[in-house]
Amino acid sequence: MFNKRQSIYRSSSRRSSSGLSVIAMLFILALAGAGAYFLMRDLSGPSVSLSPETSGRIGLAQPLELDMSDKSGVQSVTVTVKRGEKSMTVLQQTFPTLETRQKVSFNLKETKLPEGAFELEIRAVDGSYAGFGRGNATTLNLPMVLDSQPPRIAVKTGPPAMYRGGSGLIVYTVSEDVEKTGVRVGDLFFPGYRQDNGSYVCLFPFPISMRTGDYLPDIMARDLAGNETSSRLLVRALNRNYRADTLNIPESFLNFKAGELAQLCPEEATPLAQYLCSNNKVRISNDATLIKVAADPANNSGKFLWSGRFQRLPRSAVKANFGDFRTYVDGNRQKIDEQTHMGLDLASVAHAEVPAAQAGRVIWVDYLGIHGNMILIEHGLGLMTQYSHLSEYGVQVGEMVKAGQIIGRTGTSGLAGGDHLHFGVLVGGVPVQPLEWLDATWVKKRAGGRRARPAAGMAGRHVGEEQHHLAHEHFLLGLPGHAVAGK
Ligand SMILES: [Zn+2]
Repeated sequence: MFNKRQSIYRSSSRRSSSGLSVIAMLFILALAGAGAYFLMRDLSGPSVSLSPETSGRIGLAQPLELDMSDKSGVQSVTVTVKRGEKSMTVLQQTFPTLETRQKVSFNLKETKLPEGAFELEIRAVDGSYAGFGRGNATTLNLPMVLDSQPPRIAVKTGPPAMYRGGSGLIVYTVSEDVEKTGVRVGDLFFPGYRQDNGSYVCLFPFPISMRTGDYLPDIMARDLAGNETSSRLLVRALNRNYRADTLNIPESFLNFKAGELAQLCPEEATPLAQYLCSNNKVRISNDATLIKVAADPANNSGKFLWSGRFQRLPRSAVKANFGDFRTYVDGNRQKIDEQTHMGLDLASVAHAEVPAAQAGRVIWVDYLGIHGNMILIEHGLGLMTQYSHLSEYGVQVGEMVKAGQIIGRTGTSGLAGGDHLHFGVLVGGVPVQPLEWLDATWVKKRAGGRRARPAAGMAGRHVGEEQHHLAHEHFLLGLPGHAVAGK
């Protein structure tokens, strides 16, 4: 009996203990689940960002993009425009699948909003079970200003005329803050730089490769709301005849340069083929590099680093001019190539000290194809000077140099037969006539830098009259057929 009871007791005790452990385990599981839920549950709505960042100014047709993300997935988004009592939904979208990131584009064209202030409400909902399955919502109420007016540009000073191969500098004002402004020349763009007094300065070239009839520079400005204005700059395009020159490429030259030519064009078999490849393929690639270097904002001070004229290699003879149209002939006087020379070749004694033509910042100290060992100095506003075929460097990238400071020594590196300096002046990476920049009168009148004076015929105007000029209709651009700029 006793034994049996004991056994009964034991067995019941066993049953009871296993029942307890199940409950305990369920309890622990429930706690863990709740803990996990509390730890992992989604308490906030999607993060929402609107681009582009326009400082609250929006144009009607401006494309806008919403970038939303949420760990539970983005369920829906609604965009409403509110103005006074009125409101209008411009976007309402529920996404078919829950993705952690969604991007949608919209614009305000349909709203036909008038100019002025309004509110943009953006409401995005996530796919969590919060709020009994309604999800978490993020609501942004953004104060905005509708701006459909393009900026107005007033040119204060500019060149009345430019020579083919030359440079032009304009000073102008824009009626509002801009996202982009500058001068377009064909496919090329030359940015304008805002100065401390609020005006913009833009330096641009008349590329020697363009014909006078094709030279139609446009000035443009685009405001933060995406409204753009552009107009023809009325600058008389003057032709300048450049010299024709014949360059001998004898066997002796090819032998002298054999090692370097083989490095420039290893894929070609003969020194002549390597030379022709260097003078064409490598030249084109080098030109593209110069444009790229100039376009890098890191290589561009937005202000005048120069003051007054530029100086050339002292005690040197001019061996070739900018714009020389060169016909290359071989030892038998047979034409093998033709190219336009894009700088000033200056010869002094061998390994002559090379001074910086003007104050600036060194942005390139390296070998570049046909230029050999080359230094580039930027002088601000997209202006650079180039020193090619060097034998020695005396400066480093990033160094600020003074006008006349020795930066290296002349040599024969790259496509140079004899020791000389190839001196180039580049505007936005495009080679221009260096003689303008070496001419004190031209620089003072057209590109004076820190001591800049108004261009001829504009004398007597000063910064205080800026507002007055904004109202000067004949300087205002943007009217077809009325495009007038400068003089
Ligand atoms: Zn040269």
